[in-house]
Amino acid sequence: MMARAGVGSRRCCEDLIQGGRVRVNGEIAELGIKVDPLKDKILVDGKGITLPRKHTYVLLYKPKGCVSTVKDPQGRPKVTDLVPLSGVRLFPVGRLDYQTSGLLLLTDDGELAYLLTHPKYGVWKTYLVLVRGKPSPAIIQKMREGLPLEDGRTAPAKVSFLGMQSQDKGLLEISLREGRKRQVRRMCEWVGHPVLDLERKSVAFLNIKGLLPGEYRFLTPKEVQRLK
Ligand code: URA
Repeated sequence: MMARAGVGSRRCCEDLIQGGRVRVNGEIAELGIKVDPLKDKILVDGKGITLPRKHTYVLLYKPKGCVSTVKDPQGRPKVTDLVPLSGVRLFPVGRLDYQTSGLLLLTDDGELAYLLTHPKYGVWKTYLVLVRGKPSPAIIQKMREGLPLEDGRTAPAKVSFLGMQSQDKGLLEISLREGRKRQVRRMCEWVGHPVLDLERKSVAFLNIKGLLPGEYRFLTPKEVQRLK
């Protein structure tokens, strides 16, 4: 990694480490030590070095009408087509349905993708949901507590009623820590208020403000660090 940062050849970097001239977070480094370019402070002869970013992190405002898989046998537009970066193989972190819009992260960092999608980490994802009809307070309470879907009971969720968008269309905000297939749609169907429109507003502390559908931006090193 030091060699990639332009400190010198691999051999030269090994000599520096063995000579005790490299410190990682204040400690003299040993050969083979693993460092995190975003978190660790590396000094060579007391001077800081900037390590290259190893991975790419993209926040995409996924539009409706594209798939969030890397391949599609039906040949439909893919989210990866919207982020044409050469030399990087990005994959989506989790999935949004073909007709769902909103925040989708793409990366080539499998570790971060795992942290964000594995149920044991319970990352919050918030959706704006237009449903048919007006869900009653009792129904909203049921959705919060958990619904017995066919693949098991849903975990406690945050659900708020934001108001009616027209006479027969209600707007909900739903935050889930799970990410089961079509979960929001299935939860709303179960309570008798099918989804008419679905958009993911945020994942953890990240949101889609400032982007239009189809646009993307790179995460800042600070944002990446906060996610980890
Ligand atoms: N829940 C759904 O039903 N669909 C999505 O795309 C995301 C969450």
